[in-house]
Amino acid sequence: AKESGRNALSFFDPEMETVVLQRTALEADFRAALEKNQFVLHYQPQIVGSTHLIGVEALVRWAHPVRQLIAPTEFIPLAEETGLIKTLGLWVLVSACQQIKRWSTDPQFCKLTIAVNVSAQQLRARNFVEQVKHALLATQADPTRLKLELTESLLVDNVQDTIEKMHSLKAMGVSFSLDDFGTGYSSLSYLKRLPLDQLKIDKSFVCDVLSDPNDAAIARTIIALADSLALNVIAEGVETEMQRDFLAHAGCHAYQGYYFSRPLPLAEFEEYARLQVAR
Ligand code: C2E
Ligand code: CA
Ligand code: CA
Ligand code: CA
Repeated sequence: AKESGRNALSFFDPEMETVVLQRTALEADFRAALEKNQFVLHYQPQIVGSTHLIGVEALVRWAHPVRQLIAPTEFIPLAEETGLIKTLGLWVLVSACQQIKRWSTDPQFCKLTIAVNVSAQQLRARNFVEQVKHALLATQADPTRLKLELTESLLVDNVQDTIEKMHSLKAMGVSFSLDDFGTGYSSLSYLKRLPLDQLKIDKSFVCDVLSDPNDAAIARTIIALADSLALNVIAEGVETEMQRDFLAHAGCHAYQGYYFSRPLPLAEFEEYARLQVAR
């Protein structure tokens, strides 16, 4: 009786109720936000050497009418749980393709690639390949400027299906990067079978690369692995010149991180790119 009493109490726990209400409110807001087009893309530069801009990663933000700009870590989990990630992901894809098209006539921006994060639910959808093709055709974007970032966890099941989808898109010129590499469960045998172009060293290894010998060893190993599989490699979360130099000595090709720039709104990114060329 005491047990059920406690359960009954916790059922009406006012704090719990607040959490549930907040969640429900956020979910309702999120649905409305998709309809009202309240999302924006920020662009984080990807650099070869010390200044050569080769592309950007598109990172989504929620321009909430009342709150400050909301980071994706706050709403992507909700979007995944509710399945709304498929709608959001499609918006991101189409928006990135529109940007590729807009940049295509500007000699300064036409060679840049835009990397787009793809969630597991998007990739698993039966019509994923058609969605990407349609986004490219509808916007007339050059497929060779589009890079899709997949995560390891996403490759664990349905490997064969994933490989087939990747091949269809690669045939059009789309490229693939494996995000957060080293943090998931992917087996090395999959790595050989997947038609990837790039491995992305996770920022958790880059963060302590100078102070933690394990992280340094992992970073070196990923770079060596990429070399032996003929993949290019990019390090994310590079915050200092010393981290960049360490990675450069280890043979890394490209970098992304606050040392170069934070993710920027479109106009600020374009300004950044112009200054890069001017210096
Ligand atoms: P991610 O794909 O690993 O993206 C990199 C994250 O690291 C970004 O966080 C970026 O702002 C942050 N970052 C960049 N440079 C540095 C650095 O030097 N130091 C540190 N500490 N962090 C750095 P952000 O923009 O908050 O995005 C978080 C995650 O949300 C992304 O992680 C990605 O998993 C997800 N995400 C963002 N946009 C999308 C999207 O359009 N679709 C999907 N499915 N997921 C997205
Ligand atoms: Ca990413
Ligand atoms: Ca990442
Ligand atoms: Ca560590």
